[in-house]
Amino acid sequence: MGKRRQNSSFFSNYKFEYEKDFDLKNKEKLIHNLFSFFEKITKEIDFSSFEIGFSWPKKYDILIEFKYLVRDRLIELLNSKLEKKHDFTKHDAYFLIDLNKSSIFVYLMPVYVYGKYCKFSRGLAQTEYFCRFCKGNGCKKCDNTGLIIQNSVEQLLSKKFVPKFVSKQIVLHGAGREDADVLMLGNGRPFVLEIVCPKKRIIQLEELESEINSSFKEISVNSLKFVSKDFVAKIKSFPFKKIYYAVVNCSKKIDLNNIDLNKKIFIEQLTPTRVEKRRALLKRKKEIIFLNFEQINDNEFGLKLKTSHGTYVKEFISGDNNKTVPSLGSILGLNCVCKQLDVLEICDQKLK
Ligand SMILES: [Zn+2]
Repeated sequence: MGKRRQNSSFFSNYKFEYEKDFDLKNKEKLIHNLFSFFEKITKEIDFSSFEIGFSWPKKYDILIEFKYLVRDRLIELLNSKLEKKHDFTKHDAYFLIDLNKSSIFVYLMPVYVYGKYCKFSRGLAQTEYFCRFCKGNGCKKCDNTGLIIQNSVEQLLSKKFVPKFVSKQIVLHGAGREDADVLMLGNGRPFVLEIVCPKKRIIQLEELESEINSSFKEISVNSLKFVSKDFVAKIKSFPFKKIYYAVVNCSKKIDLNNIDLNKKIFIEQLTPTRVEKRRALLKRKKEIIFLNFEQINDNEFGLKLKTSHGTYVKEFISGDNNKTVPSLGSILGLNCVCKQLDVLEICDQKLK
């Protein structure tokens, strides 16, 4: 797997040019011209709070008082006439008025939307990965897409979120992730979408939710709500327990009568071989409870199990060359392989 692409709040900005007839000596005219820009831009961009910065031409010998006066007067007008709040620490939009370049650069802070997604298709990744051969530039290996897996939950959601918010892109921050071939069922997996450079911030999320759910058969979303940025760290660090359903294939005929249900099994897992490149090599202590078994045929059975946060289930089943001890295989005294896996539930009742 390649490295996940970088996301940035300052991914890009919008640039607007204005006419060069701004009279820098005449402060009333300058204020008037700049304010007319803001009157126009509020029709295109949603923001309730803002900050303004200036870049003044050096060749003009403008007094400091003049500069402060223009800035203060503009802030006052935005507040009184357009009902926008000036806030220099926390704002939706930052306007850099560059009088050298006759341009106004607009930096729009991201909007964060919490939700949960379900995934009904095997072969859909959570997010896109850069191709490691070309580092995202496009090559033969990736069919010139620059991406390893072309279809993802993130990509499907971006088809609806990007046009709705008139944004540049979205970044999906998931509460963990399932492999592309694993279904995500039940109430879904919590996530936060970072909507980058959104021109629109006031969106009816219930409408968007039903639009998504009627458009895609591979995924569904629920519980969409606006959250603050710190929710990203919150869902990433919250220790969710999970309930899985696995189809297990065994080397010989199995007798399921000797297996204890509803008993805690303590295991130790060394970072699996398949994710070694992405994760630190660590030994992790995890807990597993078998909830239910059902025989499928002589060599196969379905297993419902509950696991602690961050358990690698496929490796628990196979043992991953003794990197997971004990494993389902070692408990049963057989070679076991996970043939199919679904996440039935992510236990997030305590996440607030
Ligand atoms: Zn490539």
